[in-house]
Amino acid sequence: MAADFGDAGLLLLALLGLLVGSFLNVLIYRLPKMMELQWAAELAQASEPNSAPAAPFNLWVPRSNCPHCGTAIAWYDNMPLLSYALLRGRCRHCQAPISLRYPLVELSSALLFGFCGWHWGISMAALAWCVLSAALLSLALIDWDTTLLPDAIVLPVLWLGLIGASMRWTGITLEAALWGAVAGYLALWSIFWAFKLVTGKEGMGYGDFKLLACLGAWFGWQALVPILLMSSVIGAVVGILLKIKGGLREGGVMPFGPFLVGAGLVTMFWDAAGLAPIIS
Ligand SMILES: [Zn+2]
Repeated sequence: MAADFGDAGLLLLALLGLLVGSFLNVLIYRLPKMMELQWAAELAQASEPNSAPAAPFNLWVPRSNCPHCGTAIAWYDNMPLLSYALLRGRCRHCQAPISLRYPLVELSSALLFGFCGWHWGISMAALAWCVLSAALLSLALIDWDTTLLPDAIVLPVLWLGLIGASMRWTGITLEAALWGAVAGYLALWSIFWAFKLVTGKEGMGYGDFKLLACLGAWFGWQALVPILLMSSVIGAVVGILLKIKGGLREGGVMPFGPFLVGAGLVTMFWDAAGLAPIIS
């Protein structure tokens, strides 16, 4: 606890959050594409072992460009929040509108990091919670867009939750974190198989099991039931609303990850506000 540095922590981490938010926009857009290219390349390799490798596509290459006119985006047009405001949400070259999501992700990231800085001060604990916030924000959007929850994000953050408990960054015991991860995975795994045996349908994916395991590692097994209740109720309400409005995609599928993320963030604010009983 470094409460004396609260205000400086808030400002510093909010700024860091803005920069990270800019990176998250790239991650959210490119990571699923990188995974799809990887799968396609593995398939091509299996059928034609001598096929030429595709052009590199990762988080750094190629440079960001306007999806409408293809012009590379200069650094001064790529500053978080500021550039969107200065350009009034339009590409400098072709005037095509820039998605409002970019500044919103940057703003959300700044607010989440600022919250962590305000609550935990300038500390390793604050940084760890910033990592969790950034991971949850990107997972919610990637899952909403593609129904994927990449292991490359979920698994390291699950480990970080266990390390955080051991280092006393998360305020729960290592036992609570360990059993939170195990029970989180098994809870959704059993619901998945029960649902599949009864209805023959798959209601969610393995990514959801791992994401709840991750939340269990950060918040402890005691938080699993509230998280599951919260995410199912909100998920059901949103699902019904989308169904009425005809906004559900083909097959009526709706990813569960964004609701787990929402419940996870509420739990983070709830714990931080001291509303949960202290477990240790
Ligand atoms: Zn353009």
